[in-house]
Amino acid sequence: MLDTNRIEALRHAPVDRGAHIIDGARRAASDGAEMEVISPLDGSVLTTIPRGTREDAEAAIAAARRAFDDGRWSGLAPAARKAVLLRWAELIEEQALEIAVLGVRDNGTEIGMALKAEPLSAAGTIRYYAEAADKLYGEIAPTAPGHLGLVHREPAGVVGAIVPWNFPLMIGAWKLGPALAAGCTVVLKPAETASLSLLRIAELAQDAGMPPGVLNVVTGEGAVVGDAIARSMDVDVLVFTGSGPTGRRLMEAAAQSNLKRVYLELGGKSPNIVFADAPDLDEAAKVSAMGIFRNSGQVCVAGSRLLVERAIHDDFVARLAKVTDSLRVGDPLDPATAAGAVNSEVQLQRNLGFVVEARAAGRKVHGGERILAETGGFYMAPAIVTGVEPTDRIAREEVFGPVLAVQPFDTEDEAVALANGTDYGLAAAVWTSDLSRAHRLVRRIRAGVVHVNTYGGPDITVPLGGVKQSGNGHDKSLHAFDKYLDLKTAWIKL
Ligand code: NAD
Repeated sequence: MLDTNRIEALRHAPVDRGAHIIDGARRAASDGAEMEVISPLDGSVLTTIPRGTREDAEAAIAAARRAFDDGRWSGLAPAARKAVLLRWAELIEEQALEIAVLGVRDNGTEIGMALKAEPLSAAGTIRYYAEAADKLYGEIAPTAPGHLGLVHREPAGVVGAIVPWNFPLMIGAWKLGPALAAGCTVVLKPAETASLSLLRIAELAQDAGMPPGVLNVVTGEGAVVGDAIARSMDVDVLVFTGSGPTGRRLMEAAAQSNLKRVYLELGGKSPNIVFADAPDLDEAAKVSAMGIFRNSGQVCVAGSRLLVERAIHDDFVARLAKVTDSLRVGDPLDPATAAGAVNSEVQLQRNLGFVVEARAAGRKVHGGERILAETGGFYMAPAIVTGVEPTDRIAREEVFGPVLAVQPFDTEDEAVALANGTDYGLAAAVWTSDLSRAHRLVRRIRAGVVHVNTYGGPDITVPLGGVKQSGNGHDKSLHAFDKYLDLKTAWIKL
């Protein structure tokens, strides 16, 4: 049960001016420049954060390099790193509501979801990797007699982590947890429109006893701070969650600098396939609506393409529209809200542009208009677009907003062809009572995760990553350690 009085008090609490965290200290930008943090709730200026410079990024990287090279973190017993990380998780949990509300005021996610998906999820993720820190073993190779082959797993070095504005803590922790548990040091670059909660938890890391320089956070523009990290000769691994175009630039920057390893978690156009034999169409409609409209569609795995067997198409769309109309959209700090604000005016206009274009092409649109404009905030009614053709932009490009493209299909083969007919391959879902069909489709659909009779919710124990242009790395689960640990062979003559 959310403490509404406390939320109301926090809604108006003054927000301190943000500062980079570099080498354990709060720092302004080297030239003093700041950028305004606009709250999507009402368009007001919440506070400012440093508009980081290249010099700031380089100072943070140098601090992370020193901290890595002198072994103040990588040289600790894994159990000692674990203790610090567990304390950090505890501090985040203790302040979870404060951190969640701060994040909501910054990025607009509905509070019910934000509390669970942001500080509490981040604390859980950090704890998961902390617990694993002292359980990572090397290997003894099955060599011929006369030699001993040892395979060590060593921390990879300085990690640059660049993260997006949706779920900054959850996604940030997916990088920070395994990187720090493995013994790496980190320079983190939050998104321009979602930096505050990451800055807050970075301060808590210092309070938990993390040595200076181990976790550094530099705010500012991607093209400046992010680019400096991507081009640095001193960053060993670059991990990124965000859009495809930025991902491409990062790979180029790595190629033009030190060939650092680059792991990308990118966007999606995920198909949600409903067969006529789905076990419960009302449940399917309810979960499908939340699968696209929660957090106003700003979810990388959002089920943004609904593929429905033609026999139930009209019936299912009607059920879905009914559920959608019942969702409360608006003030994200109201616990009854199902979908909060769009992150920025720019993103809102982009979302609305897709709807206008679909209407102009003769597609039928349910919802999809700007609402609550009088608040000054960025709100949009969820849109269900039917009659979509596979060639429509709305069927091919990621909107990253509350816009659902619906297409009918007649056969399983056609459903698979439509599902795979995209450059992306992040997530998918299949709703059916036919067990064999479910397993067949899990195999046939090219995506990092295929849900069956549900949408969303995989926990930290399973990997998340894309295929095709949705990315090339995996967050979550013990597999995430592979990004932050190098293999080293010792070959010993006996
Ligand atoms: P974005 O690519 O615009 O920005 C992401 C981050 O990259 C931000 O911190 C930004 O400042 C930085 N950046 C921007 N330009 C840069 C540059 N030239 N060099 C270095 N850094 C730069 O993406 P966004 O709009 O913040 O996030 C939305 C995107 O993220 C969507 O495409 C969404 O699908 C994707 N996403 C993917 C996952 C996943 O796990 N696959 C999860 C969440 C979001």
